[in-house]
Amino acid sequence: MATLEELHEEASGCTRCGLAKGRTNVVFGTGGPSARLMLVGEGPGHDEDLAGEPFVGRSGRLLEVLVRQEVGLERSECYIANVVKCRPPGNRDPLPDEIEACSPFLDAQIDLVAPAVVVTLGNFAARTLLRTKERISDLRGRCYPFRGGHLVPTFHPAAALRGGGTVVAQMRADLVRARMILGGGPC
Ligand code: SF4
Repeated sequence: MATLEELHEEASGCTRCGLAKGRTNVVFGTGGPSARLMLVGEGPGHDEDLAGEPFVGRSGRLLEVLVRQEVGLERSECYIANVVKCRPPGNRDPLPDEIEACSPFLDAQIDLVAPAVVVTLGNFAARTLLRTKERISDLRGRCYPFRGGHLVPTFHPAAALRGGGTVVAQMRADLVRARMILGGGPC
């Protein structure tokens, strides 16, 4: 199997889907290569496309605070990636063929990092990894067995920025669930 560095290199020149045309940078993923917690979002936004790093804008700052406060981990202690590695134009939702084209990268990242817990952020990451069409509001609040570890779905931090206190409180509860599992608690 390729290493994370080799996969990053491959993604940097990838033209497997139409999102290659509009990108500034491929946003492959960052963090500890053996992180016990992996955070998976939807796709890069404007700031991420420019920086080449996931979750660097306002959403990222909120996510960092919530993970630090509820899980007790710093950003550098987690591995962070998105379902699609190139920015959808105008921040539109990624299309099914784009998700399918990019999924081998995320699958390989999960296999290589082998986190104990994957926290998905928003509809697309949860639906892609759990292979379901259910909405995040129905999926969250539970934990799912996932590739030898566990998956905890929660909202995207952008939804928390829009939705305010209720969404933030639900994200906090989901992250507490992740912390308990990381500490050896039941799913
Ligand atoms: Fe390749 Fe993924 Fe970028 Fe599409 S989104 S061009 S599959 S890296």
